[in-house]
Amino acid sequence: MPESVMTTEIGTAALETADEEVRKEDIREMLMRMEADFKKKLKIAEEALNRTIRREEKLSIDNGVIDYSNTARCLSKNVSTLRKCLRQINQALEDLANGIYGICKDEGCGDLISSERLLVEPFAQYCIGCKRKIEEKESRERRRNQYGGYHTSLAYCPNRIS
Ligand SMILES: [Zn+2]
Repeated sequence: MPESVMTTEIGTAALETADEEVRKEDIREMLMRMEADFKKKLKIAEEALNRTIRREEKLSIDNGVIDYSNTARCLSKNVSTLRKCLRQINQALEDLANGIYGICKDEGCGDLISSERLLVEPFAQYCIGCKRKIEEKESRERRRNQYGGYHTSLAYCPNRIS
């Protein structure tokens, strides 16, 4: 078979598809490793948060006011972050299965997320432009909340495990 047959359009397309499949499988494996790792971390973080909350609640029974420490707040934040990451990893795995992995989730954008960005953050859901916009909005909201009411109680904390 002459070599030129290998470089027909059909041949190239088939090669690219095979390449794409390998890449997808790599990403899937990486995401699944991350998922397992994050699940372990989340379990440890939840246990630490639980222990801290129980201890602080026991201590505060005497004075009737539950005033959670900064440690409890940090642990709670940590649990939130890990849960968010896990949700994003699951979403990325779902997107991979549905053939929409790597497409920006922002409504009205739909750009491809750069492969450099996906290499660093394989569960990224937004292109860099949209991600920056979202982060700016979040930081504005955080600043507003800081000067509004600061929540000192974790009694209704969504991460609290009773
Ligand atoms: Zn975008």
